[in-house]
Amino acid sequence: MKGLHAALANFPVENGELVVGGMPITRLAQTAGSTPFYVYDRAAIDARIAALRNALPAQVHVHYAMKANPMPALVRHVARQVDGLDVASAGELAVALDADVDPRTISFAGPGKTDRELEAALAADVLVNIESFREIRLLARERDRTGRRARVAVRVNPDFELKSSGMRMGGGPKQFGIDAEDVPRALREIASAGLAFEGFHVFSGSQNLRAEAICEAQTNAFELVLRLAEHAPAPVRTLNLGGGFGIPYFPGEQPLDLPAVGARLATLVETSAKALPEATLVVELGRYLVGEAGLYVCRVIDRKISRGQVFLVTDGGLHHHLAASGNFGQVIRKNYPVSIGNRVDAAEQEVVSVVGPLCTPLDLLADRMSLPRANEGDLVAVYQSGAYGYTASPLRFLGHPPPREILV
Ligand SMILES: *Cc1c(COP(=O)(O)O)cnc(C)c1O
Repeated sequence: MKGLHAALANFPVENGELVVGGMPITRLAQTAGSTPFYVYDRAAIDARIAALRNALPAQVHVHYAMKANPMPALVRHVARQVDGLDVASAGELAVALDADVDPRTISFAGPGKTDRELEAALAADVLVNIESFREIRLLARERDRTGRRARVAVRVNPDFELKSSGMRMGGGPKQFGIDAEDVPRALREIASAGLAFEGFHVFSGSQNLRAEAICEAQTNAFELVLRLAEHAPAPVRTLNLGGGFGIPYFPGEQPLDLPAVGARLATLVETSAKALPEATLVVELGRYLVGEAGLYVCRVIDRKISRGQVFLVTDGGLHHHLAASGNFGQVIRKNYPVSIGNRVDAAEQEVVSVVGPLCTPLDLLADRMSLPRANEGDLVAVYQSGAYGYTASPLRFLGHPPPREILV
């Protein structure tokens, strides 16, 4: 297996076929009824959550950030095993409320919440992560109008950044949260509006594979909150330290050292028990829970040779899986791990580019990668596709049908 991406070991291989949820991939394709499709493996999700629980202190709550994968059946499955769901729109809130969880364990973050979204959050009694002074004013008006007190936490835009993170979402000028220096004023307005203050939320970035960087960000977030808590109108009951736990997508990337993150969180739990005795520490994770449990599967329609280079033209591509094409926030395009799912361990290999049916050179799933020799009808599997796939892609682009999603 030398030179192969570690993700290829995430699913077993039997008789040359990738097996997901106990089913060989050709049979899964028949079950799906058509290609392309996304498949998500319940057992892989369960194993990941169990590993996380094992590494983190028992006192730390784990929330699922639904935007990573909001498929309703998957959300329902994950919801049973985590302590809360984090939503970022009224659409996600509706899916979360359908998932048979206590609404009080749902939190609603995100800039630009509309009046309707805030009213829905208030009616459902979910925790609103306040991202601006306007949100405080609107919830104050609703308090006067309906008598209902919104449960709120203040999302803080910290005065530090998450180092070596794939995507930075805190520090410097940002549309997210309230700048740390303005938080004392926000807390005064929350108090005078009579809202139910419950705590703080600090999310500084995503897709981080370095335990030290995550630990440093969480420690900084914790210390920042300790300072801000002096201005709070009520004891801090929830302290969401964000997440940012990454998964290895590209060659050479190593999985996150989870025990190291767990050990540092254990010391934060101890400090917190003294300094903020009523507070529960929360981490909110999206891709780390579900990203490695999903595959995107498409079929080779045509095998073309252009000036010596082999192209496998498939029925799937950028329109279904923008991230794997390299166009969802990548600066330098790199290949996701890919295999020929129905001949994973074939001896004969060749260097090919896997492309989709769209009329744009951006529609690339693998650029000159060494893969088992494939023919028309074979199945291409893209790994690490359980998060930011289906709903993070321009499904209408060029008018092909959308892929199916199955949970096995
Ligand atoms: C997107 C997002 C997450 C999830 O990020 P992952 O990298 O998928 O873990 C968590 N919290 C907030 C506030 C987010 O915006």
